[in-house]
Amino acid sequence: MSLAKEMKAYLSTHKRIVEVSIPVRMDDGSLRFFEGFRVQHNNTCGPYKGGFRYHQQVDMGEVKALAAWMTIKCSVVGIPLGGGKGGVIVDPKLLSEGEKERLTRAYARAIADVVGPDLDVPAPDVNTNAQMMDWFADEYSKYCGSDQRGVVTGKSIAAGGSKGRNNATAQGGIYILDEYVKKHELEAAKTRVIIQGFGNAGGIAADLLAAQGYKIVGASDSKGGIYNENGIDNAKLAACKLEKGSVMEFEDAEKMSNEELLEKDCDILVLAALENQVHRGNAANVKAKLILELANGPTTPEADEILASRGVIVVPDILANAGGVTVSYFEMLQNAAGNYWSEEDVNMKLKEIMVKAFAEVVANGEKYGCDLRVAAYVTSLDRIANKVHENGEIS
Ligand code: NAD
Repeated sequence: MSLAKEMKAYLSTHKRIVEVSIPVRMDDGSLRFFEGFRVQHNNTCGPYKGGFRYHQQVDMGEVKALAAWMTIKCSVVGIPLGGGKGGVIVDPKLLSEGEKERLTRAYARAIADVVGPDLDVPAPDVNTNAQMMDWFADEYSKYCGSDQRGVVTGKSIAAGGSKGRNNATAQGGIYILDEYVKKHELEAAKTRVIIQGFGNAGGIAADLLAAQGYKIVGASDSKGGIYNENGIDNAKLAACKLEKGSVMEFEDAEKMSNEELLEKDCDILVLAALENQVHRGNAANVKAKLILELANGPTTPEADEILASRGVIVVPDILANAGGVTVSYFEMLQNAAGNYWSEEDVNMKLKEIMVKAFAEVVANGEKYGCDLRVAAYVTSLDRIANKVHENGEIS
C-alpha cells in the first residue's frame, strides 16, 4: 500500500502512556497500592477507545500492544474512534466485592484527568464487567460534578448501557459469515461448524448459528473438546455448560483434547478462546475452509502463511470481532443524546457497518492480491493515514 515511512513511524508510537499507583483500603484495614496503566495509542479518528483488565500478569508492553490493536480495529470498521487500553496488576479472584469496588473507584480517580466521553472511553476486558463500569462511571461523574456516564461503555442497561452489547461480538462476526455463505451459495443446514471456546463470544455465536440452522458439530472449553459429525443439539449443550460447568459433561458426543478438535472435519472453525491456537504445528491439519477469529490473535503469522497456501480463508480478529467495539460506539452515541435504541435498531446498524467493512476488506484483498488479514490492515491504515493528513497532524 506504499504507506509512507514517516506515517509508519507515527503510528508505531503511543501518544500518551500513564502509570498510576492506586491506594486501596482492604477489608482487614490495611492499605495496599496497586500498579495501574492507561495507554493512549492514537486518537486521529476520534476519542481513544479500549477496555481495561484486571490480571496479575498485566504489563505495560501488553497494554501498549492492545491499545494499538484497538486503533486498527476501530478504523477497519470505520467508526470514529481511536485506540487505548488499560490494566491493573491484580488477581481479582483474591478480592472481596467491596475491595473490587474500592479498587475500581480508585482507578477511576487515578486516571480521571486523562479519560472522558470525548477524550478516552474505557470498557470491560479480561476480568472486568458491567458492574465495574457502573462504578467507574459513577465515580468519574462525582469527580466532574455532573452526569458523565458516557466515560465508559459496557455498563448495565440501568446505568446507560446499550441493548445488544452482550451479543455484539458474536453477532458482528456472524453478519460477516452470512455474507460469505451467501457468496458461496452454501446451505446453513449443510454447513458444519466447530466452536473453540464455548464462553461469552463462542457460546453466543453457537446460539446464533444454531438459530439460523447451521450444524454445530464440535465445541470446546478449557477442559477439552467434544465432536459429533451428526450434529450437536446446541440448546442441550448450552444447558449442560450452564449446569455442569463444561462442554465435556455433554453425553452425546466423542470427547477429545482441544488440539484434536481443531483438526476435526468441518466447514467453519470459530476461534473464540485464546491467542496462538492455530500455529505452525497444526495449521496444515485444519480441515475448515473458513476460520472466523472471534478471539484476539488466535492464529500465528506462520499459521497464516500455511493456511493461505492451502486456500483456507481467515476472517481476521480485527474485523471479525469488531462488533463489540461497534456497539460500544453506539452506547457512546446513545449516552450523548440521552436517547436509547431498541435491540432491532442496534442490530440493523451493526449489520450495516459489518457488511460494509467486510466488502471493503474483500475489495482491498482483490486489489492488492493479499489475504483478508493484510487487506484489513491496509483498509484500516489507509483510513487513518488519510485522516492524519486531513487533520494536519504531521506536516
Ligand atoms: P470467556 O472467558 O467468556 O470465554 C472463553 C472460553 O474459552 C471459555 O469457555 C474457556 O473455558 C475457553 N477456553 C479457555 N482455554 C481454552 C482452550 N485452550 N481451548 C478451548 N477453549 C478454551 O471470554 P470471551 O469474552 O468469550 O473472550 C474470548 C476471546 O474473544 C478473547 O480472545 C477475547 O479477547 C475475544 N473478544 C471478546 C469480546 C467480547 O465481547 N466478549 C470482544 C472482542 C474480543
